[in-house]
Amino acid sequence: MTKALEGQQVMILPEGSNRVLGRDAQRINIAVAYAVANIVRTTLGPKGMDKMLVSELGDIVITNDGATILEEMNVEHPAAKIMVEIAKTQDKEVGDGTTTSVMLAGMLLKKAGDLLDQDIHASTIIKGYDLAAKKANEILDKISTKVSINDKQTLEKIAAVAMGSKSIGVGSSKDMLAKMVVTAVTQVAEERNGKYFVDDELIKIEKKAGGEINDTQLIQGVLIDKEVVHPGMPKSVKNAKIALLDCALEIEKTEVDAKIEITSPEQMQAFLAQEEKMLRDMVEKIASTGANVVFCQKGIDDVAQHFLYKKGILAVRRVKKSDMEKLARATGGKIATTLDDLSSKDLGIAGEVNERTIAGEKMVFVENCKDPKSVTIFVRASTDHVVSEGERAIVDAIGAVSSAIEDGRYVTGGGSTELELSVQLAKYATEIGGREQLAIQAFAESLEIVPRTLAENAGMDAIDALVNLRAKHKKEGGEHFGIDVHNSTIADMKALGVFEPLKVKTQAIASAYEAAKMLLRIDDMIASKGKSSGTGGKGGAGGAESGGAGSMGDY
Ligand code: ADP
Ligand code: MG
Repeated sequence: MTKALEGQQVMILPEGSNRVLGRDAQRINIAVAYAVANIVRTTLGPKGMDKMLVSELGDIVITNDGATILEEMNVEHPAAKIMVEIAKTQDKEVGDGTTTSVMLAGMLLKKAGDLLDQDIHASTIIKGYDLAAKKANEILDKISTKVSINDKQTLEKIAAVAMGSKSIGVGSSKDMLAKMVVTAVTQVAEERNGKYFVDDELIKIEKKAGGEINDTQLIQGVLIDKEVVHPGMPKSVKNAKIALLDCALEIEKTEVDAKIEITSPEQMQAFLAQEEKMLRDMVEKIASTGANVVFCQKGIDDVAQHFLYKKGILAVRRVKKSDMEKLARATGGKIATTLDDLSSKDLGIAGEVNERTIAGEKMVFVENCKDPKSVTIFVRASTDHVVSEGERAIVDAIGAVSSAIEDGRYVTGGGSTELELSVQLAKYATEIGGREQLAIQAFAESLEIVPRTLAENAGMDAIDALVNLRAKHKKEGGEHFGIDVHNSTIADMKALGVFEPLKVKTQAIASAYEAAKMLLRIDDMIASKGKSSGTGGKGGAGGAESGGAGSMGDY
């Protein structure tokens, strides 16, 4: 039997598939992940640079946001896609710290590559990384500080740091935005069994180019990007009583083709009059509840519009479902699915409803709601690109403040936390000993990438900065020293008020290390036919590597 097979090739995979095995597979994945990390690296921190991304259609995005950059890049290689996943997870879970997590993953993999070269087995490295990650969490637990929802000052600092790296809002406008974000988040936060939860869906972000960043405002209510349906209707209603309708103010068309035979002009007249009466009754019904504003998720017939106008009611039609829900939360109203359901106690309340023309477009502001459970941040800035980056900065800040409130703890930034972790983990490594020690040591060194990069991006000598920082951290009272990027020196981040939510760090470490672990475990990559470009041998990885915007340096 075996004899017959000798010299014969057995094909398991379809022709044209691509397969990379063993160390080669690991090498390629590490190189790709490291290259991706290098791309975002120059953007880290307030002194990081921006990237301009141009899509196939020529759309331009200018940003500093790790998740956005990676998403817009449309990477091909599977390992690169996993790196993009890290950024997305981080974005979803905490809304900030995306660049940090991707950089950490790249560094963990690079260091693992060095260990593999020293013939240390991947499973030993993974075991060491496991120990280090667990220990890192314990250390973080100890070095973090508690923050309550009432500590607005600390929360504002957290918001400012999260926004800090985006190139919008310097100085006073950044403080203004930070205050705005904290007000918004604390307002929609819900308390359940002594813990706070923030559904950031409840903070709507609307944006319009025109004006300047200082014109950005917090609306105690909702902004609807629609106009009032009828020109005769009031454009401004004070003490608004708002009907929220999820039913059309129209005569329903029958499902089947029904024919009505009309034999005389009188009959025609009567038929039209009947239709008109139905619409009038609808409006009468709404008016009888005392409503002076109507938001309708469906259509409003011209005739109904006319009657509403006669009653002096302000009406808006075809409002998005998500906006209807926000209106309900902001005004305390209830959405009625049929007019029969509508009663005066279902009406929402708002101080004012106004139609305003913003940058040539009409929008309806539902404002001054009393203790609204949904608010809107209306972002303004000179051009579309700036507005979009402003939005991303505000989203990051909302994410950071939300996690600080939910988790209730924060740490110091500027690379101080990473360096403290690094120093403590290095000590822990010597306690563990054995081959795992080397992996824990590598984990510790990987964390230094954060202060190192912040220093580089601030134009400092990174080696000097790291040496000085390590010295500080080894002494009593030096645990909060990090990179003061604005003065290009090292400083106590606690004194400077550079605060970040603890969850940004725990999540960044967790997702970086999970991804590194996953890529390290792979020793066989099989790409089916037609998809060979992804795992295209060493050439493919080399190509990705040369895409890197810099080098992480060897240390
Ligand atoms: P990420 O996508 O990881 O959030 P950022 O570009 O937002 O990346 O940079 C975050 C890093 O910048 C954090 O390590 C944070 O501590 C640091 N940072 C932010 N503001 C300051 C500051 N004023 N001084 C020093 N470091 C800062
Ligand atoms: Mg950030």
